[in-house]
Amino acid sequence: MKKYNFGAGPSILPQEAMKATADACVDFEGLGLSLMEISHRSKEFQKVMDDAQALLKELLQIPDGYSVLFLGGGASLEFAMVPYNYLEKKAAYLNTGVWATKAQKEARLFGEVVEVASSADKNFTYVPKNFEIPADADYLHVTTNNTIYGTELLRDIDSPIPLIADMSSDILSRPVDVSKYVMIYGGAQKNLSMAGVTFVIVKDDSLGKVTRQIPTMLDYRTHIKKGSMFNTPPVVPIYSALQTLKWIKAQGGVEAMDKRAAERATILYDEIDRNKLFRGTAVAEDRSRMNICFVMQDEYKELEKDFLAFALERGMWGIKGHRDVGGFRASCYNAMPVEGVKALVECMKEFEKK
Ligand SMILES: *Cc1c(COP(=O)(O)O)cnc(C)c1O
Repeated sequence: MKKYNFGAGPSILPQEAMKATADACVDFEGLGLSLMEISHRSKEFQKVMDDAQALLKELLQIPDGYSVLFLGGGASLEFAMVPYNYLEKKAAYLNTGVWATKAQKEARLFGEVVEVASSADKNFTYVPKNFEIPADADYLHVTTNNTIYGTELLRDIDSPIPLIADMSSDILSRPVDVSKYVMIYGGAQKNLSMAGVTFVIVKDDSLGKVTRQIPTMLDYRTHIKKGSMFNTPPVVPIYSALQTLKWIKAQGGVEAMDKRAAERATILYDEIDRNKLFRGTAVAEDRSRMNICFVMQDEYKELEKDFLAFALERGMWGIKGHRDVGGFRASCYNAMPVEGVKALVECMKEFEKK
C-alpha cells in the first residue's frame, strides 16, 4: 500500500533527495568514503555548501547583499539569536501562535517587546491585520506559517521597520520578496531537509547595530565571515537540503511549488467544507496551504478516533492534529504529491458513506 506522510515535522521529503542522501552516506560521489566521514573542509564538501547556498539564492531570487547560512540549533535557537543580534531597545512581535509566542519570550530577555497584535483570543484561528507597527522599534518579527493552528500569512507585508520572519514551515512554497526582510530563518525539517540544520537568509548590512557583546557562535557576522563554516556544520542535513533544492528546481522552482500548494489546498479544503462530518478550524481567508487543520463536526466528535484508524489503514500517516487544536492536521509540504491529498479526500468520502 502506498503511504502518504502528512506529518508536521520532521516530514515528507522528495524520494530522490532521501535516496541521494542515503547513497552519499555510504559512498559520497564515488570517493569510496562516506559523506559522514570526510572533512567539512574538503573541496568535495565545500562544493556541497557552495551549491546549496547558491541554489537557495537562485530559487528565492535572493538579492545581492544577503548571505545564506546553514546553522545548528533549530529555529528555536534563532528565537534567541534574533534579539541578541538586533534588539537594542525595543522589538515588535506579531503573535500568531505557539512558535510566535516562544520567539517573543526570548526577545523579552533582551529588551522591551511590543506585541503589535495577537490572535490568542480565538485560539490563533486567524492572522491579525491592520495592526500598528511602532516606528521606534528595532524590528518586527512575524511567523509566516503557523504550523500548529494552520494559518498562514501569504503575502509579504510592508513594514516601515526591519522585518524578520520565521518561515520554518512554508519556505520555498511560494515566491518571496526577500528584499522586504532583513532576515528569514527556519528549521529545515519541514520543507527543506531532514532535522539538524537551520537555514538563515540575512542582509549583511542589517547587522552590527547593537551595542551588547555577542558570543562568537551566536553572532551572525561570525558565520557570514566564515561562509557558514566557522565550526563543523551539520553536513548530512546540508547535503539533503541541497538534494531537495535540486528537486525543487527540476520541478519548476518556487512557482511550481506555489501552484501545487494552491492545488492541494483547494482540493482538501473543498472536501472539508463539503463533507458533513468535518469542518475547518482556521478562518477561510487565513487558511494555511501547508498545514490543513480540521475537526469533526460537534455531532460526530466521537468518531474522531475511528477516522484516524480508518485513514491510517489506508496509508494516511501523521494526520492526528496537534493537542492544542485537536482533530486532524494534514501537513502538505512541498514534497506532498497532489495524489496524496486526493487519496485523503477519498478516505473522507468513504468514511462519510460508512
Ligand atoms: C517547527 C517550528 C519551529 C521549531 O523548529 P525547531 O527547528 O524544532 O527549533 C519554529 N517555528 C515554526 C513556525 C515551526 O513550524
